[in-house]
Amino acid sequence: MPMYDFACRECGQVFEKKLRMSQSSDPQACPSCGSGDTRRHMSSAIAIGGGGSSVAPAIATRPPSSPFT
Ligand SMILES: [Zn+2]
Repeated sequence: MPMYDFACRECGQVFEKKLRMSQSSDPQACPSCGSGDTRRHMSSAIAIGGGGSSVAPAIATRPPSSPFT
């Protein structure tokens, strides 16, 4: 049974659940705040990338020097 990662849009809580394929598209309630507004992604897909954090703030990592200045 595949493990799915979920992230809560309300409080940002990330949690994992083992679900059947048929259940994977069902909304999962956040264990932290109880909100049903969560989004899903496969945890295995992220593990392949090797990075720890899933979402990198691209804007914050802009180099200080810009060719347009
Ligand atoms: Zn939440």
